[in-house]
Amino acid sequence: MSVLLSDGRTIPIETHKIRIVQKVRLPPAAERLRAMEEAGYNTFLLRTRDIFIDMLTDSGTNAMSDNQLAAMMQADDAYAGSESFYRLADAVREVFGYEYLLPTHQGRAAEHLLAKVFVKPGDVVPMNYHFTTTKAHFELAGGKVLEIFTPEALQTQSECPFKGNLDLGRLDETIARYGPERISFVRMEATTNLLGGQPFSMENLRAVKQRLEGAGIPLVVDGSLISENAYFIRQREPGYENKSIREIIREMMALADICYLSGRKSCAVRGGFIATSNREYFDRIRPWLPVYEGFFTYGGMSSKEIEAMAVGVREMTELEVAGSSAEFVRYFVERLEAIGVPVVTPPGGLACHLDATRFLDHLPQAQYPAGALAAAVYIGSGIRGMERGTVSMDRDQEGRDVMSDLELLRLAVPRRVFTMSQIEYAVDRVGWLHRNRALVGGLEFYEEPPVLRFFAGKLKPLGDWGARLAEAFAREFGPAC
Ligand SMILES: *Cc1c(COP(=O)(O)O)cnc(C)c1O
Repeated sequence: MSVLLSDGRTIPIETHKIRIVQKVRLPPAAERLRAMEEAGYNTFLLRTRDIFIDMLTDSGTNAMSDNQLAAMMQADDAYAGSESFYRLADAVREVFGYEYLLPTHQGRAAEHLLAKVFVKPGDVVPMNYHFTTTKAHFELAGGKVLEIFTPEALQTQSECPFKGNLDLGRLDETIARYGPERISFVRMEATTNLLGGQPFSMENLRAVKQRLEGAGIPLVVDGSLISENAYFIRQREPGYENKSIREIIREMMALADICYLSGRKSCAVRGGFIATSNREYFDRIRPWLPVYEGFFTYGGMSSKEIEAMAVGVREMTELEVAGSSAEFVRYFVERLEAIGVPVVTPPGGLACHLDATRFLDHLPQAQYPAGALAAAVYIGSGIRGMERGTVSMDRDQEGRDVMSDLELLRLAVPRRVFTMSQIEYAVDRVGWLHRNRALVGGLEFYEEPPVLRFFAGKLKPLGDWGARLAEAFAREFGPAC
């Protein structure tokens, strides 16, 4: 929720109180430099004891509610037939309107099962945008990911409300070119994570469905951030301003054939699932569940998490919950924009995204500007963000870097975790770094895994810019900051 103050400002305001806290510590700049060097300039490899504000991700880090924690105490740990599973299945039926539920240990496991069942070698999988784990699974199964976004998607400075829309003309061309037999399904990601959490519109989803229905191609929604997408539809799409998040989700789900998600995001737990009302799809996927995940009634999740997910699925449909991160992100983005820092606009769902291409316009893309910016922000503030650029793309078969469409640094705002003063601190330090951006140099890999390299790869700075940045910071703020 946001409130209008008497001085004219609109600020996000919490509709909860904080009753449990976890301590964090701000290590001084010299310590941060050492930690960054040990982590190979990869923020994934930092330890949380060295992090002041963890904006790596919203994945599994959203604050849980008292009701979620309470539900965990009634977990039924039966290997088979657990009542916890049936409580989750009821919640999914109520919120999504789907009959059948396949629990998985997290979102990528759902992608793995969908790839196994639907993606044949030589297939194409059209989508509004890829997600890292999605692309890896669909390509390992021999498929090719086709991203058919609209031209607005890659404009980081924009007023387009729905940059997550699928380009319908390109969808028609794709269907004509490959034919329904070679299209595994069309995937719509509810708020495109790697485009900066940008939503698609209901109108677009409806138009996609119309085209697929005739051709007999399944429509799959990645609903990891479905409540945020619904929140933006309510805010930005004419005719939806008076609908509830629940009604909007139901309308989206009535258009899709399958929804899968990572429960780590909108549901604020650690797990995932595939849901559908299509018996044939369910029957095809189901046999693989015990092979890769676990028995049908837990799918690799702990019973406690299943209970918390049943509550989380319902709570994410509350307007305050669906918008809790979005309202802070909007504030964060507007504050940075006001001081001239290049950010992705309009504000998206899960994070404030810095546009590293414009922020570090002196660096060529081959030197990984988004990776460099992630390291620089950490050294200059103790804030951990996540590189979403070329480091997050694996090399092609010839071993060449695949340049990312966008070079972004994601500063995630997990739901109900950070306060306004922490956001203000982030704005100030990112602003300082922007004024001192000439100090930031590029990176190169010295240890590089062949797949999803961004998780474990190690890089080093070209030159000693990390040390010079830490010194410049300490000169301005003192050695203790
Ligand atoms: C996080 C995420 C996934 C992968 O889910 P995990 O639970 O991390 O395995 C897939 N798609 C989207 C859109 C996501 O945000």
